[in-house]
Amino acid sequence: MMESTGALDTADDIYFAPLLPWQQGLWTQLTKRVTVQQQSLPHALLAAGMQGMGKRAFVWRLVAWLLCRQRDSHPSGACAQCESCQWLRSGTHPSFQTLPLISMPVSAENTANKEKSSSTAKDKKSAKATNNSALKIKVDDIRALQPFIYQGGQGLRICVLDHAEQMTIAAANALLKTLEEPQAQVHLFLISDSPAQLLPTIKSRVQQLALQTIEPAVATDYVTQVLGSTVNREAVGTAAIEQLIQMANGAPLAAIALAQAPWYSKRALWLTTWQALRSGKRSSVAASDYWQKQLSIIEFIQLSELMLLDMRRLCLGLAALQKDINLSAILESYQPASSAIETFANSLQQSKIALQQNVQEKFAYDKLMQELAYL
Ligand SMILES: [Zn+2]
Repeated sequence: MMESTGALDTADDIYFAPLLPWQQGLWTQLTKRVTVQQQSLPHALLAAGMQGMGKRAFVWRLVAWLLCRQRDSHPSGACAQCESCQWLRSGTHPSFQTLPLISMPVSAENTANKEKSSSTAKDKKSAKATNNSALKIKVDDIRALQPFIYQGGQGLRICVLDHAEQMTIAAANALLKTLEEPQAQVHLFLISDSPAQLLPTIKSRVQQLALQTIEPAVATDYVTQVLGSTVNREAVGTAAIEQLIQMANGAPLAAIALAQAPWYSKRALWLTTWQALRSGKRSSVAASDYWQKQLSIIEFIQLSELMLLDMRRLCLGLAALQKDINLSAILESYQPASSAIETFANSLQQSKIALQQNVQEKFAYDKLMQELAYL
């Protein structure tokens, strides 16, 4: 549900960030294995699970530590000072490769440039279109890694394959060959939000990192702490935090992203617009004009998807996840048919596709508001 890239902050945020509290046990176990027991880690590791559990944060941090020249004296994370750590900072580490290229954590400087260049809506849209296709990992990308993997020589070499489920079949088969011939000193990390889409032959040759379990109390404490320092206080009461975590399926980083999404505070407004459209008190053109000043169309679609999620729950006789808006009360007096919910859900999907094909935001907004009136 939440589109969190999980990457692309500054190098310091990625490689040298504090360890997430629920990852302490696994971190200690893996790093002790390397330093105390003097055993290397498995050749191929998989960090899998839904978005927002912090699996990318864990992998980038572990990669930095494995490559760090001072790791034995810095058991809790890479030193951030040595040559290796500086190479990571500048994005020029000779022993580190990552696919797809878009996943490469960037240096602070590159991030600043990127922000500058994507300041207009048009740029944002084209960046988004690039993102989608750039996630695919093709067979040529895997082949291009082979010289790096098979070069031999001294020292550790690491490859990270992010969004591993995006590999084409040919790419997966090429990777399979590599997995079957482990090279000394080479580690492969696969990351996937949708591990069910990975080929079983790949999954059987990688060892999964135990990153999926988070104690609810630990998640609550973490989300409370982070939100308490970033958003206004009233938004972070116990009930609000619990609701966020529930809506994020227990994934703390997704819960934080949800609270920080520009549309999260506009859920009640969405209901007001929906009611006004349905009763004919407001025209779809007026609603469209109004919302265009509130949120980008992509944000409005995300907001709408969340509202549909709760409508579906209520239609099934389950409780709404959102207790802080009066959706349940509204649906008691009027409940849209399941078919109407699915029709609108379908319109949201169509809008996303249209936007990738450069349909104007205003046009997409007008159309969605017309359809919302019939929900
Ligand atoms: Zn270091």
